[in-house]
Amino acid sequence: MSIVEFRNVTKRFGSNTVLDGISLAIEPGEVVVIVGPSGSGKSTLLRCINALETIEGGDIVVDGLSVRGKPAQVRLLRREAGMVFQQFNLFPQLTALENVMFGPLHTRAVPKAQAREQARALLSRVGLAERENHYPGQLSGGQQQRVAIARALAIKPKLMLFDEPTSALDPELRHEVLKVMQDVAETGMTMIVVTHEMEFARKVGSRLLFMDGGRIAEDGNPEELLTRPSSQRLQEFLQHVA
Ligand code: ADP
Ligand code: MG
Repeated sequence: MSIVEFRNVTKRFGSNTVLDGISLAIEPGEVVVIVGPSGSGKSTLLRCINALETIEGGDIVVDGLSVRGKPAQVRLLRREAGMVFQQFNLFPQLTALENVMFGPLHTRAVPKAQAREQARALLSRVGLAERENHYPGQLSGGQQQRVAIARALAIKPKLMLFDEPTSALDPELRHEVLKVMQDVAETGMTMIVVTHEMEFARKVGSRLLFMDGGRIAEDGNPEELLTRPSSQRLQEFLQHVA
């Protein structure tokens, strides 16, 4: 069974059709990289998976739960995916450890000692065991983003959504975040990653989607699509990001 399924999904903002009849099935363990020009609907597509946006047509089913389901079903659906944003979105008044403990404590009712132990293990996994008592303001952008990844993993999601996770970082800090993402992919996690990092797409991605004007214009093997882009639009796009 697919873990994420879009069935002819339409999303509009006013008269602007942002997702234009999207159909897409993602299987467990896939690492799907999404590229495409600004405004093509990439962020909206991710936000729809988490039911952060409502859709006007079609349906999205995540692990058997529909975004059109009853509120209780939608609450369960929101727990399926961990999300990592371009702007790390950590709680500034909480330490790295407290940020990672927050979800398990407040949305999963995990006992505090257990939440702390899990959070320490996750911080260590992203290479930040020594920084647990630092506040976000005392961490570099790359470190903050790694905390954000640990925080998203702490709710034990079935899939991870990344929206341009390295775009706000200086080039020299991107690598440490991409490395952590690669490690997460290697655990078999299903991931959907919006990014301009073509090397990551090639090396880690199992599938590449090219979005253009609210549609999936290309869908295939990253290496093949990037080496021999069949459409003119993808060729032009790749020349711009290269
Ligand atoms: P991308 O992530 O590919 O750059 P987005 O999904 O952010 O694209 O945006 C797609 C389109 O939807 C754009 O035209 C954008 O202006 C519009 N849009 C996104 N969010 C909103 C919103 N909250 N209200 C109105 N329009 C929006
Ligand atoms: Mg976006």
